[in-house]
Amino acid sequence: MNTTTRTDAKAGTLADRFEATFGAAPHGVWAAPGRVNLIGEHTDYNEGFVLPFAIDKRARTAVRLRSDSLRNTTVRLLSTVGNQGVIEADAAALVPGAVKGWAKYPLGVVWALQHHGLEIPGFDLLLDSNVPLGAGLSSSHAIECAVITALNELTGSGLSPEEMVRVTQHAENAFVGAPTGIMDQSAALRGSSGHAVFLDCRDQAVELVPFDAQKAGLVLQVIDTKVSHSHADGGYASRRTSCELGAGLLGVKALRDVTVTDLKDARGLLDPITFRRVRHIITENDRVLQTVDTLRNLGPAHIGNLLDASHASMRDDFEISCPELDLAVDTARNHGAIGARMTGGGFGGSAIALTPVAHMQQVRDAVIRAFAEAGFTAPDIFTVTPAAGAERIR
Ligand code: ADP
Ligand code: MG
Repeated sequence: MNTTTRTDAKAGTLADRFEATFGAAPHGVWAAPGRVNLIGEHTDYNEGFVLPFAIDKRARTAVRLRSDSLRNTTVRLLSTVGNQGVIEADAAALVPGAVKGWAKYPLGVVWALQHHGLEIPGFDLLLDSNVPLGAGLSSSHAIECAVITALNELTGSGLSPEEMVRVTQHAENAFVGAPTGIMDQSAALRGSSGHAVFLDCRDQAVELVPFDAQKAGLVLQVIDTKVSHSHADGGYASRRTSCELGAGLLGVKALRDVTVTDLKDARGLLDPITFRRVRHIITENDRVLQTVDTLRNLGPAHIGNLLDASHASMRDDFEISCPELDLAVDTARNHGAIGARMTGGGFGGSAIALTPVAHMQQVRDAVIRAFAEAGFTAPDIFTVTPAAGAERIR
């Protein structure tokens, strides 16, 4: 997390809108980004490695703690997205699973902070975000991380980034009901401009790895397939269960403890489906390590084959891709991308393509054409760059 206040053109507008809505200026404005995972999918809850980066699309929250009475635990929430109007809740009476809609993200953070032993007073909050919703870029964690960064500072709680990662994970798992790992919030809280976040999900150790696609004449294109995923649905949870089953049968604490050379022996101990699930995790962990090495020693122009192999593994072994993601990846590769893969939890969401600047338009046109020909909803295609993690912006 970066505690310095940086210029953000939208912070002032948001503060004005907050004041017009709630009748007083906010105590501050905080931002936290969405993320793209460069490589390392479903490895986080297997205590393995991931390599996401914070993107230049972020959630911004203007927040004012209630000053009428410390015992007034009323929370008022408003988002610039949708037309739900102001949502009111009592911070002292939050029940996991009971909150519907976007309010579950900020209220989940409040609930998890309380579980962490902190007293959270009532507050007013205005949210604005340009992280696409449900596109696999973790718009939900962008909200949670902006909220926890704000509340941590405003209440003087002094939580470390590692603690904030755990608290937001608790919020997502126990309050929102999504069995996700720690990757998304680690990227949002610990990301840094021009770098990918090499995260060891076993001990939360982070190393920032230079990822400057631009310097290598490349762009990272995101292809949002518009197929919405839902982590609370069965697919994600069932993959998690398979991984736990695999680790149990192989006698290890987590699949992180199995290496590529152990795979030959694992085949005889697992049913064919569990074996393929396990093989994805083991090889994916290895690909993350190879990608980190390659970025450090050779640069982004040399990671294309690792991205491709990652996609094939998710499509064939982990079976979390879908026709739209496969079409996006194949089309991008056939029209100039040097590597492409689906990113995020799967079953929809976005693909990424690492593309030479000269081929950017060609890839874009080809993917749009291919989607139209297949009768799929038109995708959204845009580029992202590694940006700052959560920070105060006003
Ligand atoms: P992802 O995190 O991959 O974008 P999720 O399903 O976890 O997908 O989170 C998407 C949900 O987050 C949306 O359905 C919505 O409830 C909420 N959300 C994200 N951004 C906003 C926003 N700006 N305003 C209101 N709700 C939002
Ligand atoms: Mg999410």
